[in-house]
Amino acid sequence: MRTIMLIDMDYFFVACEEIKRPELKDRPTIVGADPKEGRGRGVVMTCNYVARKLGIHSAMPISSAYRMAPDAEFLPMDYPYYERKSNEVFGIIKDFSEKTEQVSIDEFFIDVSSKIDNNKEALLLAGKIKSRINSEARLPCSVGISDTKLVAKMACESAKPDGIKLVGKEESLNFIWQLPVGELYGVGAKTKERLEKMGYRTIGDLAKANIMLLMKEFDSFGIELHDLSNGIDPREVVENYEVKSISKEYTFDRDTSKDEEIIKSIRKLSADVGKEISDKRLSYRTVTVKLRYMDFIEHLHSRSIRPTGKSEEIEKTAVELYRENVEKNKKVRKIGVRVSGLQDYKNQKLLF
Ligand SMILES: [Mg+2]
Repeated sequence: MRTIMLIDMDYFFVACEEIKRPELKDRPTIVGADPKEGRGRGVVMTCNYVARKLGIHSAMPISSAYRMAPDAEFLPMDYPYYERKSNEVFGIIKDFSEKTEQVSIDEFFIDVSSKIDNNKEALLLAGKIKSRINSEARLPCSVGISDTKLVAKMACESAKPDGIKLVGKEESLNFIWQLPVGELYGVGAKTKERLEKMGYRTIGDLAKANIMLLMKEFDSFGIELHDLSNGIDPREVVENYEVKSISKEYTFDRDTSKDEEIIKSIRKLSADVGKEISDKRLSYRTVTVKLRYMDFIEHLHSRSIRPTGKSEEIEKTAVELYRENVEKNKKVRKIGVRVSGLQDYKNQKLLF
């Protein structure tokens, strides 16, 4: 039988910061946009569980987080450092199986089918991986185990924080069917809303839905929704594509703080990156905008989205990232647009 684990780091960016400053563990700590005393734009990227107890969560506007906890520790993204920690974690995971796949900076699939014979051994192995990540990378994580990527991911969600959960093949339908429809892996906020309007409250409701009705509403995505809600997910754990990222950069002739000029360049760079993505038949997961200011200080701003091969999404996300993060009082010297988390588009049969 196939056994897949999803290893997902708990509150990753803040957990990385806590290594540098252990005292943050006891304080509400938030990594994200600059709150600018409540006037800041942009969002919370990650926060620790102390902050979550106060009602703060990721993707919340940073200004709301500031209102809820003005004394919290607000930290900017240190992306190069998080990437190093992520590589360290991935290196540990690779010691346990040759079939591994990085989903995002803090999420990894591993296929351990050939390493274990039963559920008990799967749990023991998950414990070993988890404790090596804890002791060597000094980071907490949760592990979900099942026979499909879909259920491994959803088991992991329910194991959080700092847990391990195994959902066997026989119990996987009971496990997912009782959950709200919005928790189906691959269903975003908009799809959730549409499904609820159609009267589907739980994943079980969706599983019993008429497939023609779903196709009428969602086209081919309707078939995926039908399959996923019935626990059908043949996707294998696939090694990541050898190209790590694709990026384009542009240096302005004269430093500028003109939004329209900068956004025009971002659109052009996004289109160039998008062309390369579609030429190479890749899908991407993360869009990053690099802003280098006149004082040569460089900031990277990233957002992960559902894997997609659509190049328009690059432009949209890049412009949003720019608007949310640009420092208004400084002129920009150079900008860059990068996509990462690349995969072969054709191999992703069930594309979320
Ligand atoms: Mg995570």
